[in-house]
Amino acid sequence: MSKNNDEILPLQWIKGVGPRKAEAFAREGIISIMDLVYYFPRSYIDRNAVPSLKALSVKLKQENFLQDESFNKNISYKTEVIVVARIIDKLEHPFGKGRKLLKVVLSDSTGGNAEIRFWNYTDYYKKILVSGELYTISGIPTLGKYNNIEFDHPEIEPFEQEDEKLYMKGMILPVYRLTQGLKNAGLTIRALREIISGLIEKESGNIRETLNEGLLSKLKFPNKKDAVRALHFPENSQSLERARLRMKFEEIFFFEIYLALRKRGAAQSEKGPLINQKSSLARQLYDSLPFTLTNDQKKVIREIAGDMNSGKPMNRLLQGDVGSGKTIVALLSMLVAIDSGFQTAILAPTEILAEQHYNSISKYIKELGINSAQVMGGQNKRMRRELTEEIRTQNAKIVIGTHALFEAELNYNKLGLIIIDEQHRFGVAQRAELKRMAEDSLGGGLAPHVLVMSATPIPRTLSMTYYGDLDVSVIKQMPVGRKPIKTKIAFESQLPSVFDFIKDQVQEGNQAYIVYPLVEKSEKMDLKDASDNFEYLKSEIFPEFKLGLLHGQMFWYEKEEVMKDFLDKKYHILVSTTVIEVGIDVPDATVMLIENAERFGLSQLHQLRGRVGRSSKQSYCILATKDNYRFEIKNRNIDTDDAKANIIRLKTMERTTDGFEIAQVDMKLRGPGDILGTKQSGLPEFKFIDLAADEKIIEYARKKAFALIEADPGLKNPEIKPIKDEYIAKYRNIENFIDIA
Ligand code: ADP
Ligand code: MG
Repeated sequence: MSKNNDEILPLQWIKGVGPRKAEAFAREGIISIMDLVYYFPRSYIDRNAVPSLKALSVKLKQENFLQDESFNKNISYKTEVIVVARIIDKLEHPFGKGRKLLKVVLSDSTGGNAEIRFWNYTDYYKKILVSGELYTISGIPTLGKYNNIEFDHPEIEPFEQEDEKLYMKGMILPVYRLTQGLKNAGLTIRALREIISGLIEKESGNIRETLNEGLLSKLKFPNKKDAVRALHFPENSQSLERARLRMKFEEIFFFEIYLALRKRGAAQSEKGPLINQKSSLARQLYDSLPFTLTNDQKKVIREIAGDMNSGKPMNRLLQGDVGSGKTIVALLSMLVAIDSGFQTAILAPTEILAEQHYNSISKYIKELGINSAQVMGGQNKRMRRELTEEIRTQNAKIVIGTHALFEAELNYNKLGLIIIDEQHRFGVAQRAELKRMAEDSLGGGLAPHVLVMSATPIPRTLSMTYYGDLDVSVIKQMPVGRKPIKTKIAFESQLPSVFDFIKDQVQEGNQAYIVYPLVEKSEKMDLKDASDNFEYLKSEIFPEFKLGLLHGQMFWYEKEEVMKDFLDKKYHILVSTTVIEVGIDVPDATVMLIENAERFGLSQLHQLRGRVGRSSKQSYCILATKDNYRFEIKNRNIDTDDAKANIIRLKTMERTTDGFEIAQVDMKLRGPGDILGTKQSGLPEFKFIDLAADEKIIEYARKKAFALIEADPGLKNPEIKPIKDEYIAKYRNIENFIDIA
């Protein structure tokens, strides 16, 4: 150990730690004494909560989601449990090439059994695990082939006699996450408990209160010291619960303060173009629409017009499921802005989508005497020059395009409203760039109004956090006359009858999509490939029909041509990869067959399905999947977590067309980070808050935080000094930190 380390590892001086463990801690990011004080247990061994193996087995069978169609409501997918049991046997089974599996058989006082399977380090586990001894096992249990409980590579710790005594007395014992590095340094959970127990007593003076008295007593929260102690060594489950609630609350509360300040900062410093809410252009289009807007659509338009008339720049998210009619809302909003003399732009993630917007918008505005311009990559010089001129002179009032909209040669002319479709596909920097160009075009320190639209419904808990500084509008109602799409899982061996069904539909004058996950042949996976299958479908299955092929390897103008032809009914069936994911609106398409559907993500399936059901006709979505899932679905016998997740996804699609419900399931399966795309999400790592479950707390903390900032934006009230200090300590290093001093 170097001298340097002596100085920088304060933990080594703590009783029971020493240099070796201090170094191992440091590698986990636990460097200071307070880091260790705040190293909270990941779970607890509580006699009142630990199930017997018998009870666990009953529970697993009950919970087996496929047994009952309402499985969805409480998916207990990958929920960890702790059990206490004795090892009664260790068995080795050879598998594969010279490998072996170690099965450790467990039993408890109720006579229940369970099995642990170790696929790696079998010699190690065989050596350290002792038959006849008691252990605590924490892991995700699954039901095996014979309805036996199985754990794969759980955490397993000897249950020492002293702990057992405490446990029998009803003490709740903390369980800490021990990485291999910590274990290798000789640390056990029991040792860590002792270290932390000593520390808490000694350091309690350094545990700073982070909430104010008023809030603590109002919410009946323990003070910080008591909360920290209760989290490590709870006296009973109630005090543990209160402590946890407090930690959850404050974790999200400070984040919401950050968001409230960010929103306030933007609102105060920026001025937005003033736009008159009354617009004859919008009125003219509104009166000529062949349908009436849904109440949700009207409400959102009012919200947008209100924002644009407020003097502040709008920052609004419009969430609405596929087919809910966001485009017309966007267009009417643009007309309102245009009537006040502004240019408007729609940014779309793909050329296909930009094209579709351009086409539908051009149709609507033909009668209004307004021009639009479409800016795409790959346009020739002459064309681009003309467009640039149209935009510069504001002859084009509506500019529609892809990333090409940020290109340097474009000079916008009073670009007052930017609409971003499917915003999650754009990075923050890209959005900022377009905003900057608009600011330049507006002059006078004005910032443009921004409306971001998303067809990816995200759960409320997420929009309250991730989009916390945006105003959110939601279109929930679907246009009248839409029939919910009928969705069904089909197995590969049933495909012939699915094809017959498609033939019937086409013969009735409808069109169909057949979607494959990948375009290139993948040798490793036995995936179907759109172009191979295209040939097969064309010659063998549907020789009497016309088929088009669409895939990601085509140039945008090729794709566009194929899609246009499909729209013009030159094809009956479009064979495609996921490139149709967004945008296409083909009213006569009533069937979608998705092959290898288990390979798609839930929100992707939902997006794809949204391509049918675009008219008043009944539409269908067929999710084709592996034959062996048929066995599994019937037998309620799922092999692995992956397969389980696959089946949950398919069953969810079959059960509902509600995008928000689908998003909720998706979040349970994948976690919030994956839903937003972790890289872009910018969400802090929450230790206590579960974005998928803690909606009430989040909502409450958000209300409290926004009210606080509204009343006291500088956090100047001396009573809330603890909050101010903690906010600064916590968020000082975050990008966009708003200094409240
Ligand atoms: P999305 O929200 O997925 O972008 P679109 O804006 O493309 O949906 O609208 C889907 C289809 O519904 C379009 O053909 C559009 O003309 C139509 N539509 C929109 N609003 C209504 C309405 N209120 N009543 C009937 N049809 C509507
Ligand atoms: Mg759309």
